[in-house]
Amino acid sequence: MSKVKGSRILLRHRDIPKLDKLDVYLEDGGFESFKKAVTKMKPDKVTEIVKDSGLRGRGGAGFPTGVKWSFIDANNWPHYVVANADESEPGTFKDREIMEQNPYQFFEGVMLSAYAIQANDAYIYLRGEFWDLAHELDKKIKKLEKSGYLGKKLFGTDYSLNLYTHLGAGAYICGEETALLESMEGKLGQPRLRPPFPPSFGLFGKPTVVNNVETLANVPLIIEKGAKWYRKFGTERSPGTKVFSLSGNVNKPGNYELPLASTFRELIFKHGGGIPDGHAIKAIMAAGASSSLIVANDEALDTPMDYESVQNVGGMLGSASVIVIDETVDISWLVNKTVHFFKHESCGKCTPCREGVFWMSHLTERIDNGSGSREDIVLLQDVANNIQGKCLCALGDFSTQAVVTGIERFPEDFKAKVSPNQAARIKINE
Ligand code: SF4
Repeated sequence: MSKVKGSRILLRHRDIPKLDKLDVYLEDGGFESFKKAVTKMKPDKVTEIVKDSGLRGRGGAGFPTGVKWSFIDANNWPHYVVANADESEPGTFKDREIMEQNPYQFFEGVMLSAYAIQANDAYIYLRGEFWDLAHELDKKIKKLEKSGYLGKKLFGTDYSLNLYTHLGAGAYICGEETALLESMEGKLGQPRLRPPFPPSFGLFGKPTVVNNVETLANVPLIIEKGAKWYRKFGTERSPGTKVFSLSGNVNKPGNYELPLASTFRELIFKHGGGIPDGHAIKAIMAAGASSSLIVANDEALDTPMDYESVQNVGGMLGSASVIVIDETVDISWLVNKTVHFFKHESCGKCTPCREGVFWMSHLTERIDNGSGSREDIVLLQDVANNIQGKCLCALGDFSTQAVVTGIERFPEDFKAKVSPNQAARIKINE
């Protein structure tokens, strides 16, 4: 029986030494869920339990995992599972810890999802910079093959499963599931026009389930202990725990696994040790660089971090990569940094994002270096508004979040950087 201390379901390696070793994982009851599923359960039953658990995708969108699995086209074969391990959002570093320290629980989640949709091949797509981690995972996959947990006719049944790692080339956009699939097929990593969605047209044009690493790592314990047990954590609509990656102006940055609906205050002050040098907290980015800037007042700090409540204070939970910003930070500087990132990572496929982010970066740069005008702020807002809702994938909207909310919620930081008398300069190649 897998041990769970408090609400630590995913970061169990902090309680069980050497959980990254196969013998330790097996001693703790590892792969019992997979064996039970393959030998005693119908594939649909696995999906049903995951559906009942209410598990939602931890990559950012929060879509119900079991529902996604049930969309798989049963009239088109073969099926594939792809684990999205492209973790590239600035401020997000949870999947890396899971894969490094608790890899077998993650593998078992991939394997259970493969069994649920009857896929015989499953892939782990890792960002290019994770090449050393991919090498370690490959060694562990070999061990699983030797031990009979992967390969042909598992546990004497007709079910066979292969697991592979696949390295990307370091592009942020490949975290978007259809760009990831294009990249896996050896093409340029650019998002596809949707529909069709991956459960009907995925890898090599076949039905595919793409799930985030953290999402999948939940599955073995859900199958072992049941949907009701999982629902003891979190809320009715956001059940379970979440690994919050905490960074920025905070004394103890790191990954913290807490039940969903824990508050920002609890994460930042109780677990994260508060703000360095006694400074006041100014803003919070709840979902890495792609998130809006939440004004860190008492209402926001006491807001439960779940998929619904964070929206009430003008943010999104997303991948729950909480960046803390204190009073010493100039928001126009920070916005310039985020826009630069998105300019670098825009794949260039659609015009509003490719051109818009380019123009935004010139404006934010100019404002930040003190040579901008008040009209530049208005123009920046206008460019951002013209990107929103007009792009092929979410990156376009992501690039505008900090811009729009920064100007709206922290206007003084922008006004303080520009000259009121300076005329707007639309030309950018000065
Ligand atoms: Fe590429 Fe940006 Fe368009 Fe997404 S929104 S497809 S990243 S150009």
